[in-house]
Amino acid sequence: MRFSQLLIHTLRDDPADAEVPSHRLLARGGYIVKAAAGLYSYSPLMWRVIKKFMRIVREELDRESAQEVMLPILQPKELWTSSGRWDRYVTDGIMFSLQDRKGADMCLGPTHEEVITAYVDTAVSSYKQLPINLYQIQDKFRDEIRPRFGLMRGREFIMMDAYSFDADQAGLDVSYQRMDRAYRAIFDRCGVKYTVVDADAGAIGGAGSQEFMVVADTGEDAILYCDACKYAANVEKADARLVAVPNQGEAKPLEKHATPEVRTVQQLEEFFSLPPQVMAKTVLYHAVWADREAVVAVMMRGDLEINEVKLCNALDALAVKLADETQIRAATGAEVGFAGPVGLPESVTLLADLSLQGQTNLLTGCNETGFHCLNVNPGRDSAAPAFHDLRLARAGQGCPRCDGELQEVRGIEVGHIFKLGTKYSSAMGATFMAESGKPAPFVMGCYGIGVSRTPAAVVEQFHDDKGIVWPRSLAPFEVIVAVLDAKRPAQVELGEKLYAEFAARGVDVALDDRKMSPGAKFKDLELLGFPLTLVVGRRADEGFVEVMLRRDGNKEEVAADSAVARCEELLAGL
Ligand code: ATP
Ligand code: MG
Repeated sequence: MRFSQLLIHTLRDDPADAEVPSHRLLARGGYIVKAAAGLYSYSPLMWRVIKKFMRIVREELDRESAQEVMLPILQPKELWTSSGRWDRYVTDGIMFSLQDRKGADMCLGPTHEEVITAYVDTAVSSYKQLPINLYQIQDKFRDEIRPRFGLMRGREFIMMDAYSFDADQAGLDVSYQRMDRAYRAIFDRCGVKYTVVDADAGAIGGAGSQEFMVVADTGEDAILYCDACKYAANVEKADARLVAVPNQGEAKPLEKHATPEVRTVQQLEEFFSLPPQVMAKTVLYHAVWADREAVVAVMMRGDLEINEVKLCNALDALAVKLADETQIRAATGAEVGFAGPVGLPESVTLLADLSLQGQTNLLTGCNETGFHCLNVNPGRDSAAPAFHDLRLARAGQGCPRCDGELQEVRGIEVGHIFKLGTKYSSAMGATFMAESGKPAPFVMGCYGIGVSRTPAAVVEQFHDDKGIVWPRSLAPFEVIVAVLDAKRPAQVELGEKLYAEFAARGVDVALDDRKMSPGAKFKDLELLGFPLTLVVGRRADEGFVEVMLRRDGNKEEVAADSAVARCEELLAGL
């Protein structure tokens, strides 16, 4: 490939909307060009990077006996109603839906559990055909609330999605393990620093779900981990050791106290001279389900915070949001800051965190502006709450598995593996003939990799102030032969000769034969981030060239005769 014939357009300035390095550098390098929010065109160089990543993905999945397929992007509503997800996704607003000319509802696939389950139901009839694992690499569509960070959160993006079908749970465990192994091999080959964390499995819970996170300060996810025992979890899912507080003893008579303008835990602490551990703050949420919405009340020990993902799962809701002032007033009859279990209308569902289970004589609000109660004993003074683990774990708290301490890093989710069980197959009636001779639902797993997001995540880890520093495995070209002054025949001739030599040896090489000033050319090459550049410059007529490593900026002069061999040696060390 000759750069003089390749579409390269680098920019001097960062795009105004670029908040993170990968977005900035990929846009400035002309790798991506925005068409609209969350929609990008990939340049020839970007497509080379993505194809290299796809190749790694394919090789590692094929090694684990997964088979590549291609499923329709455009999907009928009927499939999504058969799994019960149509309303959920429409309410969520995440799905792009449309109608065909006959008025039938359709959508652009945000994911493909329904399509694949229907396909496998048709194609597989006996346990003898199992296990089976099918994957595709394809554009996905999601109307994200905040498309941003370039390729990180697009509205159209490339995903590898795989689905395993097994006869039983033990089979699923094996399929899941194989995908775990494939994912590790894939991200190892990208050279990125990543960590595998326990992830939220949504309302179905329990089954098992892990995310592959590229560690980066700009990551949208928070990860809590323990150095001592290697526990690691997305904060959405994470637990922390609960520090028990002494029980307050026998239930005492309820006392109501005037507490004008005392609303927060801190203010209550001062007013009553009591520690937050004996308080139960009551937070009101507005929860949405597919067919209804309601305000719910959540009691949490005063020194702890609520995890909204856990809350959402406990309610089996689609979404929860802090209730606003109007909703709070309507539900409790009091101003913000005085909600509590005492006197809460029966219509408001009451939940409490496990930290409060068995605790007596609590300090809480009582849904009366300007008042709080002491010695509140839920069950006696109010409805008995439903207890769930609703706590948000935080850095500095104890590890839930050992006596270590949790620490926090930021991460970018590049992959997700998930044991689905029979959620979809049962809902959709997708069965096979089991060894017992009876029909049984497929036991499924699903697996995703952000194919367009991963190269961006890689750039977050591999860049410097001059530009991108591609790892060898993903670089659009491994070696660039750069002719410094394309007007000098000696340089052009030697450049052509070396380029041909690399090409003959099967090296992934391009010739930068563009006519531009040496300064501008260096800047461009540094921004674009090729691992190794062979500069054919001033000493070309004496038979010398310079090898430059992008990673550390090291330069060394070598004789043109041995340049190719030296480059291969250096590449092998990358
Ligand atoms: P996120 O939590 O980041 O929104 P998700 O958990 O909804 O992602 P999955 O359904 O697990 O995403 O999709 C599989 C993979 O696809 C993710 O691990 C991620 O790498 C990638 N991905 C998801 N959404 C996007 C997006 N909007 N743009 C680019 N890649 C995405
Ligand atoms: Mg995910």
